[in-house]
Amino acid sequence: MGIPAERIERLHDLAREATAEGDVDRGREYVRLARRVSERNRVRLPRRFRRFTCDECDAYLRPGSTARVRLQSGHVVVRCRCCGATKRYPYE
Ligand SMILES: [Zn+2]
Repeated sequence: MGIPAERIERLHDLAREATAEGDVDRGREYVRLARRVSERNRVRLPRRFRRFTCDECDAYLRPGSTARVRLQSGHVVVRCRCCGATKRYPYE
């Protein structure tokens, strides 16, 4: 794993921790930083990162706090509670 990939992992953890502490804006800063690292270094964001971040408002999606997660006909539907955007992906 290269250094940019490690930074992204670390930023993901920081975003999760900040959001868990109720600091959604700080979580967003980490999410945006991680996106920037990914773009600058042409490193793909891990699937885990893409699923737990809002594409619309950059919030870290934490089920039960910033996100509502439900299952719908074989899909996981994640709704961002900050901006209302939804994303869905197949249930595994
Ligand atoms: Zn959002």
